[in-house]
Amino acid sequence: MATVVRKYIDCREFPSEIDCSLYISGTQDEVLACATQHAISTHKHEMSPELTEQLLAAMKDEPLGARL
Ligand SMILES: [Zn+2]
Repeated sequence: MATVVRKYIDCREFPSEIDCSLYISGTQDEVLACATQHAISTHKHEMSPELTEQLLAAMKDEPLGARL
């Protein structure tokens, strides 16, 4: 069984006025879908190609073997 490397976005790494500590991890598609909804609903971002780009750029590989 292939090991899927999960991606993560840690909201604490974003400058934010609301002191958000959300952490999203999963496959790239899952993280992107959740992070997009979160950015729009919580951080008042507009849905845009730039937002998608920012989120993809902020995504990192989760360290292998991480247990959260
Ligand atoms: Zn957030």
